[in-house]
Amino acid sequence: MDLFEYQGKQLFARYGIPVSDGAPVTTVPEAVEVADRIGYPVVVKAQVQVGGRGKAGGIKLAANSDEAKAHAEAILGMDIKGHVVKVVWIERASDIAEEYYASFTLDRGAKLHLGMLSAQGGVEIEQVAEENPDAIARIHVDPVDGLTEAQCREWVAAAKLNPAATEGAVEILLRLYRAYTEGDADLVEINPLILTPDGRVHALDAKVTLDDNATFRHPDYVDYDATQVRDAREEFAHQQGLQYVGLEGSVGVIANGAGLAMSTVDIVNQVGGSPANFLDIGGGANADVMAGALGVIVSDPNVRSIFINIFGGITKGEEVANGIVQALDRVQIDAPIVIRLDGTNADEGRKILEPRLSDRLQLQPTMLDAARKAVELAGGVPK
Ligand code: GDP
Ligand code: MN
Repeated sequence: MDLFEYQGKQLFARYGIPVSDGAPVTTVPEAVEVADRIGYPVVVKAQVQVGGRGKAGGIKLAANSDEAKAHAEAILGMDIKGHVVKVVWIERASDIAEEYYASFTLDRGAKLHLGMLSAQGGVEIEQVAEENPDAIARIHVDPVDGLTEAQCREWVAAAKLNPAATEGAVEILLRLYRAYTEGDADLVEINPLILTPDGRVHALDAKVTLDDNATFRHPDYVDYDATQVRDAREEFAHQQGLQYVGLEGSVGVIANGAGLAMSTVDIVNQVGGSPANFLDIGGGANADVMAGALGVIVSDPNVRSIFINIFGGITKGEEVANGIVQALDRVQIDAPIVIRLDGTNADEGRKILEPRLSDRLQLQPTMLDAARKAVELAGGVPK
């Protein structure tokens, strides 16, 4: 899950990474109160999980209470690329001499952690990577060995930061690596990491993605979960413990296993349709799970047809079929359903479905046939 900037900064602060003194607020009076307490100038920052807030007018400097009030009024409720601002973070403004970029993420191909550091920060790193790839110093870190101070020094030297920033950068990067690994993050990014005119290095922004599968190790992460931004469909799915990602299309997709669910999304695209979602119901395709999944799918007004793609492995075909049949009696479904059922005990499963089959509930022999039929029923012309 992605954190808001203020949550990322609070996480960084726990690992001793210097961030500005600040507080999140949701109302204008609170914003002024916090700004008065922190002391001017302050920065009023929109808390939305999208980049380029500055350019969109979501980051403003305030020199006094009146300006803090005006900026908080303007930014709270602002729409930034479809994200409505509900929280602003007020922090002590920093003087900036230079802006750098620093991050750690997982390089799955290399099976190692990847650190990136650049003297060209404050802009999108993708842009730096494209226009000036040599300006990014990369380091691969073996998770077993960790990042040593010596390696970190070499890395900082390679990035050619201002020498005045060296000590501060080394210290912050070692701490950032700890936050990344001990915090079970998939990404930690500081952009910009700044050097102040008086020689301090400091995180001015924070982007953190945590690994949802590690939340059991961090009981306090439930607070982050509570502030996650989900659309209505995703919220509904989340409540039922389903692995669901909302998409824009019209073919609702249900599959067992993340790999098959991804392939199902792909094949719907391949035959010229557009999937409404990714949904992995996992191993136990019983009636409860199937009813929950169908409930989420039909809550999406864009769905015109439903493609249930099941390959029985440990899950047996008759269990899936019973799950579908019982779910159909429990959930009001207007969209036609196309089922592909293969694998363990598929024949037994198909027999159970047989009496229920109609134009509205079809079995197709292969995944490709089923995808084409689902796309056709959604109003498309399958390839
Ligand atoms: P983003 O645009 O969403 O990535 O938001 P950032 O938090 O990275 O801020 C964007 C830019 O605003 C930074 O690169 C800085 O140039 C500027 N900025 C943010 N905070 C401060 C501050 O405290 N002082 C000054 N002078 N500029 C700031
Ligand atoms: Mn930034």
